[in-house]
Amino acid sequence: MQPSLEKLRKFFRLEHENKYPNTAIIGGLAQMLDYWEGEARVDGIAEEVIQAVVARLRSYEKLSPDGRAESLKGLWKRISETYPEAGQKPKTQASQTPRPPRPEQEAPQNQNTEAPPDVSPAQQRQQPNQPKQQVQQKPRPAPQPRSEAVPGAKTSQTPAALNASLTVLQGVGPKHAGDLANLGMQTLGDMLYYFPRRYEDYSQLKPIKSLFYGDVVTVLGTVQSVHTRPIKGGSKSIVEIVISDGTGSLRLSFFNQPWLANKTKNGDAIAVSGKVDQYLGRLVMNSPDWEPVEVENLHTARIVPIYALTEKVTQKWLRGMMNQVISHWAPAVVDALPDKIKLAARLVSLSEALQQIHFPNSQARLKAARERLGFDEIFYLQMGVLRQKRDWKSVEGRRFPVPTEWVDSRLSSLPFTLTDAQKKSLEDIRADLDSGQPMNRLIQGDVGSGKTVVAALGAAIVVNTGAQAAIMAPTSILAEQHYRNFTNMLTRDGGMMQESEIRLLVGSTPETEKEAIRQGLAEGSVKMVIGTHAVIEPDILFKDLQFIVIDEQHRFGVEQRKELRSKGTNPHLLVMTATPIPRSLALTVFGDLDISVIDQMPEGRQPINTYVLRPQERERAFSLIRGQIKEGRQAFIVYPLIDESEKIEARAAVDDFSTLSKEIFPDLKLGLLHGRMKPSEKDEVMMKFRDRQYDILVSTTVVEVGVDVPNSTVMLIEGADRFGLAQLHQLRGRVGRGGAQSYCLLIPTHEDATENERLQAMSRTNSGFELADLDLKTRGPGEFLGTRQAGFATTLKMASITDVTLIEKARTQAQLLFERDPYLQQTEHALLAEAFERFWGEGKGDVS
Ligand code: ADP
Ligand code: MG
Repeated sequence: MQPSLEKLRKFFRLEHENKYPNTAIIGGLAQMLDYWEGEARVDGIAEEVIQAVVARLRSYEKLSPDGRAESLKGLWKRISETYPEAGQKPKTQASQTPRPPRPEQEAPQNQNTEAPPDVSPAQQRQQPNQPKQQVQQKPRPAPQPRSEAVPGAKTSQTPAALNASLTVLQGVGPKHAGDLANLGMQTLGDMLYYFPRRYEDYSQLKPIKSLFYGDVVTVLGTVQSVHTRPIKGGSKSIVEIVISDGTGSLRLSFFNQPWLANKTKNGDAIAVSGKVDQYLGRLVMNSPDWEPVEVENLHTARIVPIYALTEKVTQKWLRGMMNQVISHWAPAVVDALPDKIKLAARLVSLSEALQQIHFPNSQARLKAARERLGFDEIFYLQMGVLRQKRDWKSVEGRRFPVPTEWVDSRLSSLPFTLTDAQKKSLEDIRADLDSGQPMNRLIQGDVGSGKTVVAALGAAIVVNTGAQAAIMAPTSILAEQHYRNFTNMLTRDGGMMQESEIRLLVGSTPETEKEAIRQGLAEGSVKMVIGTHAVIEPDILFKDLQFIVIDEQHRFGVEQRKELRSKGTNPHLLVMTATPIPRSLALTVFGDLDISVIDQMPEGRQPINTYVLRPQERERAFSLIRGQIKEGRQAFIVYPLIDESEKIEARAAVDDFSTLSKEIFPDLKLGLLHGRMKPSEKDEVMMKFRDRQYDILVSTTVVEVGVDVPNSTVMLIEGADRFGLAQLHQLRGRVGRGGAQSYCLLIPTHEDATENERLQAMSRTNSGFELADLDLKTRGPGEFLGTRQAGFATTLKMASITDVTLIEKARTQAQLLFERDPYLQQTEHALLAEAFERFWGEGKGDVS
């Protein structure tokens, strides 16, 4: 494993063992970012992963222990997706090698509150020459140069000198240049955009003599004395350190952290932050956060930038180099952003922003610098998204006008009345289909809100004229379910289609049948194909594809959507998602789509009652299930894993299936569904469950998306703490789909996890929006969107994808710009056009 990941694992492990007190690193986990980011770059860790780590650790401090556990666990999962070796247990020395965090695992008996001495960032910083222990070094890809990736950082007007290699700097030879290249700096221009990781604000420090009891402050001082005092009969100890800053002295007490005594010596300059307390009439600080500082900072009294480093580059040296480069070159950069926009959006110039982001004169100017650089990121993003929208709207889409009587007659043949929200979405689609431009719409509606019927009616409008429609779903179970629903709706008594005109195409469809479908689609006798990825295979050709539905769109990548769209000529596109999208994301990642929201549940739905049960209370869950089945209902039991793999304690579907069917529910009919079954076997089980041949479906998460069996009223989730919020909500959405009261029972792996934040949130609310908000806050946009779209969001360095104010500001400006000059042809926009092209290139904006 890469040394930087190994290091993360060590700290995470330590946090886990101590129950997440944020002490694995002195001053908190976020402190490690100073050097970790640089090291990770040297290791060639993917930028997305680095950004995910940075984002999580930065907010780590603010989370509750539960939230922290979740955050680290999620992060590690993310890392192991990219680096599978990180997810595996080391083969040798298993007991000594730290493992990834497993919050649900019981903490070791002898709780070790002492951090091993090798985890201090201070020590690592102070011993830059320590040889690396890692022997095997794989060749690493050089990190992408900073300025290349930043929107607006480079144009033809950029002074040529900014492209110069770093060896032009005094004191930088080929060796140093190599070290800096490892951090992503190859040219002077790259240095301008190598932003500080954070700042130490020494301009706001309080002198010791003006401290008051109760103050929460940062104080700088030099160490006057260090003493260790045993307490509780010698079993514990207190380290007392006295610091002085010339105005007074302050006593610091550290409870049971004896290693501190060896790490600090008289004369060391340190910064401590914490609450001022009193002891025997004197002011003291108890176990404050602290870190060493360079002595000259004591005297600078300014806001000092802290850069991400590697072991070979020291803070002081880099800061000196930066100072040279910034003071000379920041004033010389040419700003691509037109003055008009700067004025309207109240933004400082690029030169000012670059100077202040590195060496801020005040917090206010630093804020303005951040705002400007963040604006640029979002602004270019918005321009890309809006250009995409403009391009879509600039081609012709076939018109499908449809008389109101026709729609009404379709509606009256449904077994239910549409909700107002469904009607509104249908009207949106109708208008799009008659607009002369291709539809590009997202339907967003919580699980069970009835999106399918709206999509089917839209497809019916198009197919009615003889054109073709394609519906793509992420799983074969879901595709098959849609196939049945669509067929029912569109062919039933005097319906508008023949059964042979609608076909199901999934991976397991027999080759001869596939061939028939292929032919039918190519010559036009098949009007509608419903399927999985199989519908985008290259040999599937359509005679006249005009309408595309993509269900559970977050399960698909950009490429797959593009693929399907390219099978028709400017076809109308409808994508659907049950994942509620916060406004900030709706404006950015989905900013090129028109959005319809189904924010209403069909009449008669009752909120699902959700309970968190302790593992010992499992029998209660079983008796509820028995009762419901007696009333003619059905139940799901979902497990996180397929079979009991070594040491993993989650109860597993395959293993428990036999116990459940033989011992617990011997008189009931149970079906088993899991991901390792053949698609045809899965479909068969699913169909039997729907036809009530099974009372209980024991399953892994294959049932997660879309599955619709309205007669089922109980969803029991085992190992519930192992699931993400979005996933839990999706699973819960499998019940409560009819009029009957439904139940969701969550049983975590261990009793400890019953207080788990996510599980509690689930029992508190049925609203997918509320849960999504919480998810976005605790886990960041990465988990929220598909991985592809997350890439889009992680290009942001300065701006936050959740900053709605900034996003709206940038969007407004981008809109105005496109109104004034849709193709950026005016002279005053020449530089902007150039930078835009450089950033987006061709077609990168296709994120629908
Ligand atoms: P989702 O939005 O999660 O895809 P579905 O489209 O699968 O939801 O619909 C969930 C269930 O609600 C289905 O059984 C569907 O037939 C039913 N349904 C949809 N619209 C209505 C309505 N207006 N009134 C009653 N039931 C409805
Ligand atoms: Mg659905």
